[in-house]
Amino acid sequence: MRPVAVVTGGSRGIGRAVVEVLARDGYDVALCYQSNEEAASLAAKAAQEHGGRTLTRRVDVTDRLAVEAFVRDVEQELGTVDALVTAAGIVRDSHLAMMRPEDWDDVIRTNLDGTFHFCRAVAFPMMKRRRGAIVTLSSVAAEGHATQTNYSASKAGIIGFTKALAKEAGRAGLRVNSVAPGFITTDMTAGLPAKHATEMTARIPLGRFGEPEEVAELVAFLVSERAAYITGQVLHIDGGLVV
Ligand code: NAP
Repeated sequence: MRPVAVVTGGSRGIGRAVVEVLARDGYDVALCYQSNEEAASLAAKAAQEHGGRTLTRRVDVTDRLAVEAFVRDVEQELGTVDALVTAAGIVRDSHLAMMRPEDWDDVIRTNLDGTFHFCRAVAFPMMKRRRGAIVTLSSVAAEGHATQTNYSASKAGIIGFTKALAKEAGRAGLRVNSVAPGFITTDMTAGLPAKHATEMTARIPLGRFGEPEEVAELVAFLVSERAAYITGQVLHIDGGLVV
């Protein structure tokens, strides 16, 4: 029987690449998205081409009850969840003085609360079976990026959350790690002003933005048995930006 993975934000960008790589690696994949139904069904189709089953659902990660209902449906339709990857995330950048309270709330609720909701929904069943792997998506911005107080706070929060959960759940057989990408070519970075993108590229030792597939390969390694002795870690994948 194929193992089962849940990927949040699986319709686009890094999440979509994770969906495809995990399907290639033999998983049945459940993915959720916010509103882009077309992108979500393309992601599911790409996964099915690797022979696996998929379950695709519009689930707002900020909605705890919807998340719990989705995880229950995944368990019924695909089977118990072996791996969770929380890739759903948003940015709402501005200087703090101009930051609208709703932009703070949206980013914290989506990135941090969304991670909590999904991890809480899968962690207990995983711990009961004494088997499971979670990968959260943090960011190099957890170090603090100007105009991203909301995003940086959410990603630093995810790192603390990941380490705390790894410590409390390790003896129950659960591994929890975080991947902290630098600048990756997705819709999220497509809106960067060209001047800013050029300046950032100049600061990256490998001299380019990363690709979603490169992040997905790291995620796939971390959820696999090849990473059986790795937990509580934050792995940067940023072309050397943070060294
Ligand atoms: P992206 O291309 O903008 O895709 C975002 C994904 O999240 C989409 O699938 C979107 O669904 C989903 N999503 C957003 N809000 C949601 C909600 N409330 N409920 C459910 N799904 C929601 O983003 P990305 O660049 O792949 O980023 C993926 C993760 O990596 C994020 O956590 C991001 O913070 C992190 N990250 C990205 C970079 C980068 O350079 N790209 C760097 C560091 C960290 P729809 O398609 O329906 O909108």
